[in-house]
Amino acid sequence: MLIDTHCHLASKRYDNLEAVKKEANACGVKVCISQGTSPEDWERTLAGAQELPDFIVPCLAVHPSDCTEVSEEQWQQMEKLAEENKIAAVGETGLDYYWDAPTGWEESAYRSRQHQFLERHFELARKLHLNISLHTRDKVGAGDACFEDAFAIARQFPEVRPVFHCFIGTKMQAERIFSDLDGMISFTGLITFKKTEAVQAVAAWCPAERFMVETDAPFLSPEPYRGQLNSPGRVALVAEKIAQLRGQSVEEVALHTTANARHFFRLPEG
Ligand SMILES: [Zn+2]
Ligand SMILES: [Zn+2]
Repeated sequence: MLIDTHCHLASKRYDNLEAVKKEANACGVKVCISQGTSPEDWERTLAGAQELPDFIVPCLAVHPSDCTEVSEEQWQQMEKLAEENKIAAVGETGLDYYWDAPTGWEESAYRSRQHQFLERHFELARKLHLNISLHTRDKVGAGDACFEDAFAIARQFPEVRPVFHCFIGTKMQAERIFSDLDGMISFTGLITFKKTEAVQAVAAWCPAERFMVETDAPFLSPEPYRGQLNSPGRVALVAEKIAQLRGQSVEEVALHTTANARHFFRLPEG
């Protein structure tokens, strides 16, 4: 069996979660970790998890791209929901330097707002004894500022383990995540796209106990469905590609990524 460790089932693009579950189950995907990342997502994510408790496990946070939209009151509401509901991790949060600052925001002020939010997420995770799901995205060719800034913040919270989701970084970055943060990385369908040899090489090399698989659905549908609406069932295609890159069977990849996910997100054995 497989676990999709990162998707967004609160997306309005899914109108029938039961059908999403059926399709996923048919592909061997039994559980998915759904990330509620904005005020309008939170209740929908929790409602989905209530509707299909054996399939959907919720996470709550503010996505870095939404940090200028969220009021202090909404933040407090999110903290309360995180405390009162059983969530798998704080997520997804992180830093995003890919998109320009929203209208009315200086780039530097926008970034420090993101940093502030990320620190608060780590504080929340520490308080709730949870791990954290991190998004880092930089402009193409802009260097690794986003990764380095997120890494520096994560280092201040040794009690909280991070997963760098949709990992597209280097082997050296992955090694630092493992050794300095006791962290994890996870791979999306991006690994099935053309011209992603660098991250494919990281997946082929990565120690088995350090990575997980995810879809980031509704985004990033793997080949041969690139550009279409993604769904948790397609994490099977991500696992297949990784198995091929590592010269392992899909069963082996499923076995260790599922064990890693259960441990990282503190899911019951099953
Ligand atoms: Zn993300
Ligand atoms: Zn995501």
